[in-house]
Amino acid sequence: MNQITVIVPAPLRQFTEGRDSVTLDAGTVAQALSELTSRYIELRRHLYSDDGKLRSFVNIYLNDEDIRYLEGKEDAGLAVGDEIRIVPSIAGGVATAVEVKEVEFSPEEMSRYARHLILPEVGPEGQKKLKQARVLLVGAGGLGSPASLYLAAAGVGTIGLVDFDVVESSNLQRQIVHGTRDVGRPKLESARDRLLDVNPGIEIEGHEVRLTSHNALDILSGYDIVVDGTDNFPTRYLINDACVLMGIPNVYGSIFRFEGQVSVFYAKQGPCYRCLYAEPPPPGLVPSCAEGGVLGVLPGIIGALQANETLKLILGAGDPLVGRLLLFDALRVRFRELKLRKDPACPICGENPTVKELIDYEVFCGIREAEAEGRRLEASVPVITAPELKARLDAGDPIRVIDVREPSELNISRLDEAELIPLKEFPASMARLVQSNEEIVVICRSGRRSAYAVRLLMDAGFSNASNLTGGLLAWSDEVDPTMAKY
Ligand code: ZN
Repeated sequence: MNQITVIVPAPLRQFTEGRDSVTLDAGTVAQALSELTSRYIELRRHLYSDDGKLRSFVNIYLNDEDIRYLEGKEDAGLAVGDEIRIVPSIAGGVATAVEVKEVEFSPEEMSRYARHLILPEVGPEGQKKLKQARVLLVGAGGLGSPASLYLAAAGVGTIGLVDFDVVESSNLQRQIVHGTRDVGRPKLESARDRLLDVNPGIEIEGHEVRLTSHNALDILSGYDIVVDGTDNFPTRYLINDACVLMGIPNVYGSIFRFEGQVSVFYAKQGPCYRCLYAEPPPPGLVPSCAEGGVLGVLPGIIGALQANETLKLILGAGDPLVGRLLLFDALRVRFRELKLRKDPACPICGENPTVKELIDYEVFCGIREAEAEGRRLEASVPVITAPELKARLDAGDPIRVIDVREPSELNISRLDEAELIPLKEFPASMARLVQSNEEIVVICRSGRRSAYAVRLLMDAGFSNASNLTGGLLAWSDEVDPTMAKY
């Protein structure tokens, strides 16, 4: 037995009482994980499937080495001071792919790119490569904002943008390509205006669609490099597979709260995203950014690193992040680098690929099933609408309103009448809600979590509980427009 440390990533800290590292005694990796999951029972089902196997969307590193590739794997022996790191998937001199043609620079361009032209690693040849390069950014949001601004400023000749969202005020905390006056405009239009203001000498190609298996190959064709700035698993796997099939590099970035990841997945020269995570986590198991929050500057740092990798790939300069996963911890200001290896059994870039064309990624990620289940759940409980609840409260009816959101969400919006019981404490707290004639109305942001809580109450024999349908979003739309939406 040796004293070792297990590093817990942000998405899983909710199961370790907020701890980011746990020190324990263990002789092998398997013992360490077993000790960890017996201390933190909830963590077990996130790390292991029902048949006791490590889940495929969770990777375990021993001192920066993926244990899948170590001798004896989970029986690998530990020494004092060893570090075990849990790395879950979080809903990024190579391709001198750009052929240099003769390009003349105008005096304005000579002056604009002067700081590049005097760099030996760029110079006029490099600047010509940049001008001829075609880069596609999927997502004009948190990661796409800094990445697109720097690529435009650097003189990347053609920038494609895929996005179909509209700018909302809650985006402005981190999506710096958009401004306050752009709220309500399509992100594509807003980003195009800003990027052409930064550099009128480039082309912006807008694709105002959701990237799907049907259009991905068409949209990606003709681009040299793809920058993944998405925030959901189906699109990540779609981008990965499309890039592998088309033989182009995928500059990957992801963010969660205070932590980010960056890599370059380029199957011709190294591993792809599926080599790292063969399968996505089931919906809801790893929270998405929208639920988890993110420090506004974090996508700025990660997106700028994606721009850095993209420029290096175009220039053929330096060592790209192929086969390396860079982790960034904003709170400690610490970078870690993990080695990635190509998985010979990878379903798309391995020796005997089973995925030979794009598939339905929503089905692959269980999204449709989870959505349908959510809708079934909401349909299975009694509901009350926002105007009805308002009228009943105004009339002084005895109603107990329970808010099942997280305490931090109350900082944005709340109903004065509501008492807070966060959903994860709900099963243990139900006893507090003595069955009486008093009616119970459960509320949350959108009506999904509260439906789950009403279901729990009904299963426990309560017959007087109903769900605020549409949640506080509906309250804001139908009762009180001053209530902030998020
Ligand atoms: Zn692969």
